[in-house]
Amino acid sequence: MRTDVEVEAVAQKPSISNILKKSGKLIIAGPCAAESQEQLLATATALAADGKTHFLRAGAWKPRTKPGNFQGMGVEALKWLRDTKIVTGLPVATEVASERHVYEALKYGIDLLWIGARTVSNPFVIQEIAEAIRGVDIPVLVKNPLSPDVDLWEGAITRFSKAGVKEVGAIHRGFSWLKKSKFRNEPLWEIPDELKNRMPHIPIICDPSHIAGNSNLVQIIAQRAMKNSTNGLMVEVHPNPKDALSDSKQQLTPIEFNGLLNNLFYKEQSEQSIINMLNELRSEVDTIDELLIWALANRMKISEEIAGIKSKGSLDILQDNRWNEVVLHVTKTALSKGLSEKFIQNIFNRIHKESCSVQKKHSDKALKKSSKESNFIK
Ligand code: PEP
Ligand code: MN
Repeated sequence: MRTDVEVEAVAQKPSISNILKKSGKLIIAGPCAAESQEQLLATATALAADGKTHFLRAGAWKPRTKPGNFQGMGVEALKWLRDTKIVTGLPVATEVASERHVYEALKYGIDLLWIGARTVSNPFVIQEIAEAIRGVDIPVLVKNPLSPDVDLWEGAITRFSKAGVKEVGAIHRGFSWLKKSKFRNEPLWEIPDELKNRMPHIPIICDPSHIAGNSNLVQIIAQRAMKNSTNGLMVEVHPNPKDALSDSKQQLTPIEFNGLLNNLFYKEQSEQSIINMLNELRSEVDTIDELLIWALANRMKISEEIAGIKSKGSLDILQDNRWNEVVLHVTKTALSKGLSEKFIQNIFNRIHKESCSVQKKHSDKALKKSSKESNFIK
């Protein structure tokens, strides 16, 4: 039988589902990395005083893209996190990337674990971490992998659920993408949307700091996440962002963070925040437009190759059967995505016309070249 103190300790264990039931949104904030006891205390004291944050975050082990950068303070950081929790009462969260990290984090009483974007892509490591957590009552949040691969994300979450982790959630932190936009990582909102479709019971929070990569853009990403009915936020907050040992450009001060939460949850949206939101959506449209152009240019290149093959086989440029197949296929796909039949057929008629004229130009050129060559031989 449990003593009263034990019952109390179990009851007080921070639980994501209780937080979501009570406050609607899960808020995690803190520095990218734990750098010193003073830095953690300064951050946590400010966050606890504002009373809107549920967990203090700080990385103990930093997975850095390039060697030579600050790699985190390791176990020392866990001791600082434990002591900061004792002083401020704020539960603490850290990233784990191996079995050893899990054991160390549990030893120092970490209350929530998250899995970083670079770790999620490795199913062996994820399984190893899930086994290390098996039987422990601790929430785990899984960041999206660097690539926009929803299967990989879903797979990692499933490994934790199957290992008996009761509270598993997801963190949307954006994706490495072929085109560099003004964001450090492209949000690609359709990926967390798809995860939500597949796993409606898994809460998804947004990490606007790693998407934005710049403190000025954190607010518009957070606003956009609210529109996507995110279950909360994980934001990087540092007492002196410019001196931060990692991710210095994207961290907010505790005052800026408090302002952000006030704007999001406690005030009417200002005129500026509406303009910001509009700009964010426009930048998404710009990215998609560039992708459309990239796709069209590639399609035309393939048309030219097809023209070469058709002229070798003395085939007509216009192949009715093939065109009917294309129309059927694109109409079916478009309808499944909620686009109108007329709209998609207009666009594809225009694309087809252009493709035929590209093919005609290509075969005329090839014809001219071969007749020149045959004249030369004569
Ligand atoms: C972090 O949260 O500081 C971090 C390293 O994030 P990510 O795994 O998203 O790059
Ligand atoms: Mn970071």
